[in-house]
Amino acid sequence: MHMRRLLVDELRALFSDPEIAFMIQEKWIVPTASFHEGRCTRCNSTRTQQTPRCGRCHSPCLYCRDCLQMGRNVACTPLYHSTYVHPGCDATLQFHGEFSPAQNEAAQKLVSFYEEGVTESLLHAVCGAGKTEMLFPVIERALRDGPVLVATPRRDVVTELAPRLQDAFPSVTVRAFHGGLDEDARYAPCDIAVATTHQALRFFNAFALVIIDEVDAFPFTVDRKLTYAVQKARRADGRTALVTATPSSGQRRTKHKATVPRRYHGHDLPVPAFYWSGNWQKRLPIRLLLAIREKAAKHEPTFVFVPHIDDLYLVEAKLRAFDATLRVGTVHSAEPDRADRVAAFRAGDLDVLVTTTILERGVTVPRAHAYVLGADSGLFTSSALIQIAGRVGRHVDFPTGDVHFYHHGKTAAMVEAQKDIKALNAGGGL
Ligand SMILES: [Zn+2]
Ligand SMILES: [Zn+2]
Repeated sequence: MHMRRLLVDELRALFSDPEIAFMIQEKWIVPTASFHEGRCTRCNSTRTQQTPRCGRCHSPCLYCRDCLQMGRNVACTPLYHSTYVHPGCDATLQFHGEFSPAQNEAAQKLVSFYEEGVTESLLHAVCGAGKTEMLFPVIERALRDGPVLVATPRRDVVTELAPRLQDAFPSVTVRAFHGGLDEDARYAPCDIAVATTHQALRFFNAFALVIIDEVDAFPFTVDRKLTYAVQKARRADGRTALVTATPSSGQRRTKHKATVPRRYHGHDLPVPAFYWSGNWQKRLPIRLLLAIREKAAKHEPTFVFVPHIDDLYLVEAKLRAFDATLRVGTVHSAEPDRADRVAAFRAGDLDVLVTTTILERGVTVPRAHAYVLGADSGLFTSSALIQIAGRVGRHVDFPTGDVHFYHHGKTAAMVEAQKDIKALNAGGGL
């Protein structure tokens, strides 16, 4: 249980009672109160629930609802954390790619922030900037002091990142932590941990560097409460680096920021064009229909984003009525065949994918175009719109494409998204 803070139940699954007593006596593990002023110590939530009769203290007791999926944290029983300090390790980075000048500058800035003792720094990397590689140098530096955590809200990102980090640092132990691991894997030691934000809550006072990856988090925006709690995984002398494609206004003001306004291939981000569409639910804009037909003829796939699930079938029917030869699919978060449909779209078996804002990260396909219907809906925040635009033109061979926002009255979010993208293309930060 090195580097962890655990429930008594979790400890008991790993050790016998005499072993636990010995570890407490030797101060290898130390108790902390499980709640503090009504907040859960593990996840910082105040969403507590009273049980009339607690299984442990047999009287009315509080437990936390927010981190319940990791076992019940009850008020009457302390958490135990390990006092082990990981000594750090010499890791040699094996990276054979090449940085663009902007990537190199950002990567070196992160190393400088780390060495200057900056507690929190920010990497603002546009979608498609190659952020993982930019993190390698600061990870290499931090490993000399102690282990490194990369936390992200998405499980698919965890499973994708872990092998890439292992390739880059072959001499260290890299482990992926997500829900659904068995007990041995869940508490295993490591030098680099890649974890979902939730699983990162099991770590405590452990890491020399905590990286919180928000890029491609859309629509799973990182829960601020969890971000705070993940900070607890950092050692007292550790540092945090936040990686985002859409910094908040507060984040934009930070001094300790590295910005990569360019994609790795060096081309501009596609700038969204605005088109007034009237009531598109009654009649789809003719510009959209013609664009979709033209792209389909060139075998270029198109995303059509809509605000609500009900809109999916309406738009699908209207597209079919317009041109029966169009191969149209729909997808949303609760769709059981979601993975199959997304795979069909990627394989080129569908011309059009009509989707709500819920979209898999893996659905970055070359030569794609993105059309947003009802872009003025409150569901499309400026960061959501920037991330949608970010799906277009990512491939070096197809660096451009259409991004259309169809609306019934421009919103501040639309204007802000367009302004930010133009500012990045102009070479400045935000
Ligand atoms: Zn909790
Ligand atoms: Zn109790």
